[in-house]
Amino acid sequence: AFQHLQQAPDDPILGVTIAYNKDQSPVKLNLGVGAYRTEEGKPYVLRVVREAEERLISDRSRNKEYLPITGIPTFNKLSAKLILGEDSPAIRERRVCTAQCLSGTGSLRVGAEFLAKHYSQKTIYIPTPTWGNHTKVFSLGGLQVKNYRYYDPRTRGLDFEGMLQDLRSAPSGVVVLLHACAHNPTGVDPTPGQWEGIRQVIRSKNMLPFFDSAYQGFASGSLDVDAHAVRLFVTDGGECLVAQSFAKNMGLYGERVGALSLVCSSESVATRADSQLKLVIRPMYSNPPIHGASIVATVLGDRNLYQEWTVELKAMADRIIRMRHLLYEALRARGTPGNWEHIIKQIGMFTFTGLSKEQVNFMTREYHVYMTSDGRISMAGLSSKTVPHLADAIHAAVTK
Ligand code: PMP
Repeated sequence: AFQHLQQAPDDPILGVTIAYNKDQSPVKLNLGVGAYRTEEGKPYVLRVVREAEERLISDRSRNKEYLPITGIPTFNKLSAKLILGEDSPAIRERRVCTAQCLSGTGSLRVGAEFLAKHYSQKTIYIPTPTWGNHTKVFSLGGLQVKNYRYYDPRTRGLDFEGMLQDLRSAPSGVVVLLHACAHNPTGVDPTPGQWEGIRQVIRSKNMLPFFDSAYQGFASGSLDVDAHAVRLFVTDGGECLVAQSFAKNMGLYGERVGALSLVCSSESVATRADSQLKLVIRPMYSNPPIHGASIVATVLGDRNLYQEWTVELKAMADRIIRMRHLLYEALRARGTPGNWEHIIKQIGMFTFTGLSKEQVNFMTREYHVYMTSDGRISMAGLSSKTVPHLADAIHAAVTK
């Protein structure tokens, strides 16, 4: 039945790790996937996650029954509160419905299918560039995907005018995907003033903002600061969707914990939207898994654990910022041609280096440094021990 199948290419991001794993060199360095590593280069399980797991395991009243279709109700409430804020008017007015989904990707996919089924417009505008999976998630979810300008390679910053122009000339009412913070892959975020400009255009054209929040707490180190854009769009009283991931900020990558929230115009709409979300989810995977969301609910619901979490999160964010400075200084010390200030200016896990595909290939071949071909490096995978090797590789690639 499957004789005709052709070998599919590896995923552009996850494939980097496959290539890295095959490499025998002791100096090899994986800066492809956006996963946090310690100074020793090891995966990191947060202390609060271990503590929450211990509490869960020792609680003999817990069982393995199916969850409801939209997951754990307290997890949903706490997730919405985390992104929308303690005093969110939308939560107070009970206009938000939330479904626990399979991490950020699953939340985006459920959101896409919900919109394809129930929203008047079937087109979503996504930034150029964006996380590689967005186009596929949304198009397979039933939406037509178009792009708006976002990044300007000349300034290595935001193409604010281009973005506003593209949004102004897009049809009224379309869905607009926005990275809530720490834009992937560019590390370039709008300033608060620019967010306000974006909000005005989106609201004036009756567009529906869909926030992808995969890095809350990872950009600035503060959960509230990183939620600024989303909250700006909620306090104006309008509607939006938010897909949240706990992969990065709680280090729960493989547990697949996330949430999709719909901020609706009224409580009665939110109630009906919730009932329709169930119809989207039930035939897709029936209901979500218990363990990861129980961890998150335990941490978010306990004042002490929450407090400890913010400290651990800030420490991860600060280590990444330290790596930015170390790399920047290492390139300056080598006299590497070019302006590398964007390394310290960009935000979040990634630096969009501006290195070409050929330079990336050279660095992989000659220096065993692995990264995506668009020149994106995961700063979270660097340590003070590996920065010199990366700087050598970049220097050689740029001067060759
Ligand atoms: N959105 C963006 C922008 C991301 O960078 C990622 C993770 N790389 C995700 C969504 C989804 O991640 P996950 O499904 O692991 O939560």
